Amino acid sequence: MILPNSFRQPTVVPVRPLTEPQIRASFVNCTKGEAKRLHVPRDLADRPWEDLDYLGWSDPQAPTRRYLVTEVDGATYGVVLRINEASVGAARRSMCSLCITVQSGGVSLMVAPRAGKAGQQGNSVGTYICSDLACSLYVRGKLRTGTPGMHETLTVEQRATRLVANLESFVARVRA
Ligand SMILES: [Zn+2]
Repeated sequence: MILPNSFRQPTVVPVRPLTEPQIRASFVNCTKGEAKRLHVPRDLADRPWEDLDYLGWSDPQAPTRRYLVTEVDGATYGVVLRINEASVGAARRSMCSLCITVQSGGVSLMVAPRAGKAGQQGNSVGTYICSDLACSLYVRGKLRTGTPGMHETLTVEQRATRLVANLESFVARVRA
């Protein structure tokens, strides 16, 4: 009898590896000019794509900037975020509204301008997200927070599915 070398747990479909042009073209809540100029990581080829429900990164030149790119129904959506500075440094325990991970000081209130006219008029969507945008790795147990969390009985698959559902509704709120 031949056994397979490795068993892979079934997981939700991760985000497909993206190129810099795909990323720049995906942003829904900034101008084309901003999307052209914003910081995109240079190590895209080295990102752990098979474990990512979204790609998130920060801008070394602008510490409160965050970017997130994900896929919904085969389409790619990028969201520009800004950390609400009043929420930085708060050591209290907060819960990420995307991956439901609880961290002390590792979750920030992030503000995303809404797409289109609403955003130009100053409307935004605020939500608590892991400051390092590593939600995908937390739900898979690839990264640990150091903060004792809630007892969760969900499997990795269920937690990833929940993360994807929360991401989809967040992106829908930004695009609305
Ligand atoms: Zn998170």
